[in-house]
Amino acid sequence: MFENLSERLGGVFDRLTKQGALSDADIDTALREVRVALLEADVSLPVARDFVKRVAAKAAGQQVTKSVTPGQQVVKIVHDELIKILAGDGEPEPLKIDNPPATILMVGLQGSGKTTTTAKLAKRFKDRMGKRVLLASLDTNRPAAMEQLAILAGQVGVDSLPIVKGETAVQIAKRAKIQASMGGYDIVFLDTAGRLHIDQMLMDEIQAVRDIAEPRETLLVVDGLTGQDAVNVATEFDGKVGVTGVVLTRMDGDGRGGAALSMRAVTGKPIRFVGMGEKMDALETFEAERVAGRILGMGDIVALVERAQETFEAEVAERMAKRFAKGLFNMNDLKGQLEQMMKMGGMQGLMGMMPGMGKMAKQAEAAGFDDMMLRRQVALINSMTKRERANPDLLAASRKKRIAAGAGLEVQELNRLLKQHKQMADMMKKMGKGGGMKAAIKQML
Ligand code: GDP
Repeated sequence: MFENLSERLGGVFDRLTKQGALSDADIDTALREVRVALLEADVSLPVARDFVKRVAAKAAGQQVTKSVTPGQQVVKIVHDELIKILAGDGEPEPLKIDNPPATILMVGLQGSGKTTTTAKLAKRFKDRMGKRVLLASLDTNRPAAMEQLAILAGQVGVDSLPIVKGETAVQIAKRAKIQASMGGYDIVFLDTAGRLHIDQMLMDEIQAVRDIAEPRETLLVVDGLTGQDAVNVATEFDGKVGVTGVVLTRMDGDGRGGAALSMRAVTGKPIRFVGMGEKMDALETFEAERVAGRILGMGDIVALVERAQETFEAEVAERMAKRFAKGLFNMNDLKGQLEQMMKMGGMQGLMGMMPGMGKMAKQAEAAGFDDMMLRRQVALINSMTKRERANPDLLAASRKKRIAAGAGLEVQELNRLLKQHKQMADMMKKMGKGGGMKAAIKQML
């Protein structure tokens, strides 16, 4: 599916990783090529643009890690951003199939693979989770489609709702629900009618079914080969009937893969599964990491950079722990801490991460303890000489004046910083004696 994209990116990064030092122009050129490669894979323009922008920002701000080249670090950044674009931030919640019977509404255009996917999912839930599954086709316009679902149900060994001629989709949905409750089923799939195009009548029908069936999940099946069209279809369906997840079919084909890359960013809906063939077991859970790996095909480099980063952080932690244990905590150490805080989203970000700190964050802000303060403090430290940073005791009144003026700030503010430094240095000394320091620092990194 991603062969072309993979090949293109491979070419770009092969060149980049072989170079020792990278200039801004090198990175610019590479990222321009990445953007073209994404667009050629049919990724939507805003998504491709945003992707490259994020990679560029991260590449500019990265720490130089020993034993890997800057190019290899760029590969790792691209890898991480690919995962983000495929899956959004954080893990998706599990499918809501508890509290039996759970109704799953299957929607999508005709020919997208909806009926096939319904049967594949039924098989999956039965085989892997031991669920009792009932399938019902609501495609009253196409008796052949209803029969097809019944046949597939038989093939995968689950039950299907007996076909009653002349019923409306809503009537079938009601009957399926009753049957699911009475028959002790865990999951009931409602395979709605598909059309060649989205039309109002179809949407009205699906809405009516949805209101009766109260589905726990509404899964949209789209043809992955149709690229950006697949994403447009998803946006339309979501606007009209509300979609909770997407299944991309025909990912075994030679499409360009753009649908997978744009889907989450454009629609905000998670891709749950991908269809990988016509057989009933050709369905995979969508795993962003695996897909990103497939696209980039540079797992070795990613692993290498991860290891180097871990080692680097461990070394820094070790070095700092040793210093602190000896009661050493100079201005360079403080600067490192302040910059670390800024990297973690500043005061607000840090406090937001800790439960119950929301109110305190507001108070701190009111007291002028904010990100601007962090930046001012770093500016003050930058204004000190090397010797002063290593030994703040040197700071007599005249030096203080010079440092404050250098940062464009008042001496008062410098005094506050020095006091804060002293408190921290004392604390470090105490903690250093108590041990457990290395772990504490590692957590901060
Ligand atoms: P529906 O009209 O949306 O219900 O579509 P169907 O389920 O009838 O599928 C249409 C065709 O696509 C059938 O021939 C399926 O075998 C095929 N199909 C469905 N999913 C996949 C897939 O993931 N890969 C491939 N190669 N073919 C698929």
